[in-house]
Amino acid sequence: MALPPEVCIRGAGIVGRTLALLLARERVRVALVAPPATQGKEDIRAYALNTASRTLLESLRAWPDAAHATPVREMLVHGDEGGRVQFSAARQKVDALAWIVDVPALEQQLADAVRFQPLIEVVAEPVAAPLTVVCEGKASTTREALGVSYEVTRYPQHAVAARLDAEQSHDGIARQWFNDKGEVLALLPLGGTHGKTVALVWSVDQLRAPALLAQGDEEFNAAITEASHGALGALKLTSERGAWPLARAIADRWTGAMPGQPTRSWALAGDAAHTVHPLAARA
Ligand SMILES: Cc1cc2nc3c(=O)[nH]c(=O)nc-3n(C[C@H](O)[C@H](O)[C@H](O)COP(=O)(O)OP(=O)(O)OC[C@H]3O[C@@H](n4cnc5c(N)ncnc54)[C@H](O)[C@@H]3O)c2cc1C
Repeated sequence: MALPPEVCIRGAGIVGRTLALLLARERVRVALVAPPATQGKEDIRAYALNTASRTLLESLRAWPDAAHATPVREMLVHGDEGGRVQFSAARQKVDALAWIVDVPALEQQLADAVRFQPLIEVVAEPVAAPLTVVCEGKASTTREALGVSYEVTRYPQHAVAARLDAEQSHDGIARQWFNDKGEVLALLPLGGTHGKTVALVWSVDQLRAPALLAQGDEEFNAAITEASHGALGALKLTSERGAWPLARAIADRWTGAMPGQPTRSWALAGDAAHTVHPLAARA
């Protein structure tokens, strides 16, 4: 990039990369701060994304292929006293209620799109710009350095996540079970409409989560098959398990002037500004 950047984005997660692509599309020059990647744990996250998110990501050519973005045809939610509620895309006359998206595939699409955008320069360290947008996620150090406080309300639950293979096809149905202990089990369809892979998100008491992570695979498979009432037949782990503490968090300010530089501004975006659910690093 010959001219200096107009916006410096700190953090190249889903929010930082998407914002960089949107700005570059408007002919804004962007420096995207992305420290060299380190080998971390396997990324087992799956997102439920709505039509607005799909439309936006498609417009940036960053929507994953059909194998990594499975349409939710139906949602089936079981209550703790035998009640049940069902939503159907066909009845609502829409293509899908949501799409369950494989996070590593989505991040790769965004990284590829960034690489082909000449108005985005990926840099290892922050650079001076009229506007800095902090997209460093919930544990943002820049937010802390700016003196912004981040109010965290913890819930006494952890979300246990993993990938599973099912005996039967999920048929594009997202299934959820609430039980009388306040736990919520979700099996989200992956691998295309007739796939047999599901993303597990199991919200359980924080004291129970470590035991679920420590169980042997066979024992865990049996526990999850039982908790899902055998709806998809026997379930089998295909990934490692991870757990995230559930919390709500919000920064007390989202914008301001750079300390000692009144003509330069900052703004927070994404999890650096607020989170709704999984909070800290994996437990
Ligand atoms: C199991 C699970 C399921 C989820 N499901 C959903 C869902 O269905 N739908 C949904 O909307 N959300 C979901 N979420 C939440 C979602 O993951 C976050 O909201 C989202 O990742 C926030 O994106 P972000 O870019 O703001 O932050 P992050 O994804 O955390 O990215 C921040 C980036 O900044 C980098 N960084 C950090 N510090 C610095 C620094 N000092 N300098 C430079 N770079 C830095 C990090 O390495 C990272 O790459 C889920 C989360 C989990 C854990």
